[in-house]
Amino acid sequence: MSRPKPCEAVKVVVRCRPFNRREETMDNDNILEVNSELGQITLRNPRASPEELMKSFTFDAVYDFESKQSDIYDDTVRPLVDSVLQGFNGTIFAYGQTGTGKTYTMLGMPTDNERGIIPNSFNHIFTQISRSQNQQYLVRASYLEIYREEVRDLLCKDKKLDLKENPDSGVYVKDLSSVVTKNVMELEHVMNIGDESRSVGFTNMNERSSRSHAIFMITVECSEKGADGEDHIRVGKLNMVDLAGSERQSKTGAKGERLKEATKINLSLSALGNVISALVDGKSTHIPYRDSKLTRLLQDSLGGNAKTVMVATLGPASKHYEESLTTLRYANRAKNIKNKPKINEDPKDALLREFQEEIARLKAQLEERGMLAKERRRRRRNSRRLTKSMIVEDVAHRERDAELWKALEAEWKQNEEYYIKEEDESKVKEEEEKGISRFNSVDNSVEGSPKTTVTSRIPIHRFSSVEDSPKKAFPTSTHSSPGAREKWKPFGEKEQMEKERMMDDMQKEQEAMEKIIEKYKAMESKILAGGKNIIDHTNEQQKMLELKKQEIAEQIRREREIQQQVMAQDEETGELRETFSSLQQEVDLKTKKLKRLYAKLQLVKAEIGDVIDEHVVTRQELEQTQNELTRELKFKYLLIENFIPPKEKNKIMNRLHFDSEEDQWRYRPFLPSESKSAHQVKRRPTSVVGYKRPISQYAQMAVTTGAPSRYRAENVMFLELDMSPPSMYNLNLNGAHLEQAFGGPGSPRRDLLANVPFRDRTTVSRRVRKSRSW
Ligand code: ADP
Ligand code: MG
Repeated sequence: MSRPKPCEAVKVVVRCRPFNRREETMDNDNILEVNSELGQITLRNPRASPEELMKSFTFDAVYDFESKQSDIYDDTVRPLVDSVLQGFNGTIFAYGQTGTGKTYTMLGMPTDNERGIIPNSFNHIFTQISRSQNQQYLVRASYLEIYREEVRDLLCKDKKLDLKENPDSGVYVKDLSSVVTKNVMELEHVMNIGDESRSVGFTNMNERSSRSHAIFMITVECSEKGADGEDHIRVGKLNMVDLAGSERQSKTGAKGERLKEATKINLSLSALGNVISALVDGKSTHIPYRDSKLTRLLQDSLGGNAKTVMVATLGPASKHYEESLTTLRYANRAKNIKNKPKINEDPKDALLREFQEEIARLKAQLEERGMLAKERRRRRRNSRRLTKSMIVEDVAHRERDAELWKALEAEWKQNEEYYIKEEDESKVKEEEEKGISRFNSVDNSVEGSPKTTVTSRIPIHRFSSVEDSPKKAFPTSTHSSPGAREKWKPFGEKEQMEKERMMDDMQKEQEAMEKIIEKYKAMESKILAGGKNIIDHTNEQQKMLELKKQEIAEQIRREREIQQQVMAQDEETGELRETFSSLQQEVDLKTKKLKRLYAKLQLVKAEIGDVIDEHVVTRQELEQTQNELTRELKFKYLLIENFIPPKEKNKIMNRLHFDSEEDQWRYRPFLPSESKSAHQVKRRPTSVVGYKRPISQYAQMAVTTGAPSRYRAENVMFLELDMSPPSMYNLNLNGAHLEQAFGGPGSPRRDLLANVPFRDRTTVSRRVRKSRSW
């Protein structure tokens, strides 16, 4: 394996998928020409004239229609996963238009030779671990999706997550579930669970697959003894990303939806493009990682501490020429990103360290328990001997009561103390068991750090009442009668009880031990160690075979690089080596070269034109989006200015602040002093002495002058009731329409109508005739 370089370019490979059935029937032309040996791909414009030069791009590797999944894995991904096992961060992302084979490349099909990068990496990781020696590994996996700028945990249904940043580990997803896995099957299970939740999304949301980014994360922690004799932990993180379709979102959807599409769905991809441009530019001081969740999450993979592989996928059909060209240009730019990968050694958040410490503590606990059990057994033996001797003595002196009872009482006291101790011990045990159950929870919540056990001895609990005490089971001197039978009965019960209690204790002890052992074994089984199969001959041979394969792949890669360099040099220095026998020959050759260079110039010019056109289109789209956003903003302003009282508006504005971490406006919480006063009910102003309620100055004056009544004085309006007769209407009852309106001939309403008095319509007037301000 080549030694890690301090600076390493993003590796970009291109994969072309074969024609699909629909494209075949539609008689599409193949516009791609792939030269796998040179790592070159040529794109033909279906609408260009035949003499126009084709566009050529060179990449680290190019895979044609016939390429197999294993080719990509062995050639491109294997070295990256090996680096992850050494403690580097690694990222692979598939970029391309929808339907060009991103998911096929990343996940593939369930059949053996069609498995994609993700499942192939499972086999690779566990095979390598099984072959390792003197190393301990912990492998865990997470699966998430970014859709409309929301991060969703695919292993925990409908859990929306936030991104957080931490100075040590960089950007991470808060509360993302991760599963500790022991073998390939478990990792596959995790992958299937995640895929299922993704596919549930597909049916609910139209075309979700092409618009969400899925990230499968595997964290491999490896512990090994260093030269200093200490255990050192290396942590490698592998991100495998199936990006959303890179095609331009159509601009003809519904308004609200369209706006969201423009601002959110494509945001991640355009942000990714901007980040790549800024990184490649070299002059940019600001890299816009924070513009989208995807770029924030992949911050390390783009220009940071990671080794990155980008797989650009293409379709061969002529109708996708524009999109294919955009993909190739995008990929071509990404080639120039420089990363600075380094081995992550002894990070603070290594789960393996926590597991190791937990196992050590459980081990110590088991040992301690062993000692404890021994001690308890010894004490019990002593106590039993004591009780037995007491009984024998008692049988011998059955008739002598007074003295005997005194002795017995003393013995009971002793027994009582013993029981108290037993009780205390069982309390301690209970506490310890509580500690164990807490460890068990670690098993489920893998990310949670294990808690410490309660090992300290709690203060001895005394019985609060006589009823509580075990003495209740014994005959007390007041209860006891000197009768022999009655005397012996309690002893039998006592012994029985003691036995039962002992059995109970032992069982509890056993259960607690079993729990600890179970937990210990479960935790230990999660830590993987290799070296067991190393003696296996076939395994050894397989390892050699793989090494050879890897060497060959490395060799091919190097050859390709050299060929690419030679080609580039040839063009520049070719003429230096040429000798001309005659002037004419020189002229001919130079004319040829001039033609070639001219064609190249035209190509570059065309390229510039294309890029300008593309920029114009992008700018127009951005302007359109901006216009719509402005329109929306104006609408919101209108609502605020006209329908929210300025005082309220100011209050809200003062409380709002922008949370850049979550890219959201948030309400500032009430300050404690403020909130205290907010909870307090405002007191009513005190009334003027002598009045039941507050009263206006005018009313006070009125009361003192004694003119109007109190209520009238307080009224601002003067309402004088008009006592004229109520308004009347004339009803013309001979019309047939009334019959229709009030039902048929048998309807009871007819009689009712007959009694309705005629009313005069002319006396319509207001009931309240006068209303004037006081
Ligand atoms: P994407 O995820 O980019 O939208 P898919 O991976 O779903 O595209 O691929 C679309 C279709 O093309 C699938 O039916 C897939 O099986 C097929 N396909 C893609 N790439 C290949 C390939 N290299 N060989 C064979 N079939 C492929
Ligand atoms: Mg897909």
